[in-house]
Amino acid sequence: MHEISVLHKAIELAEQTARDNNIEKIAYVTLEVGELSGYLPVFFEKYYPVVTEGKPMFDGAELKMIIARGEGLCLNCNALYNIMQQEGKCPKCGSRSKKILGGRQFTLKEIGFVE
Ligand SMILES: [Zn+2]
Repeated sequence: MHEISVLHKAIELAEQTARDNNIEKIAYVTLEVGELSGYLPVFFEKYYPVVTEGKPMFDGAELKMIIARGEGLCLNCNALYNIMQQEGKCPKCGSRSKKILGGRQFTLKEIGFVE
């Protein structure tokens, strides 16, 4: 359960960014969560109210998430495929050797401010 600590860091970063810009209220934060990051979005939803509790800046602020697909490039036949859907195996040739092109990231993508 590492979600709570990375979420905590993302919220702190959002807070700091808001302060640096003299913003008093946050409307929403958007996290980008890669399918292969090892983090489960359901836990971010669960912990978000806990992590933002007692932070007036986050009163009524929404948590949004973008799920980044875990894309793999087959090193055997060059097919591009979704690693999660295909369970790590190339749908064309069945090879498991691949280059991971995306889906490992966890980032604070966007902060929406209340005007
Ligand atoms: Zn292949």
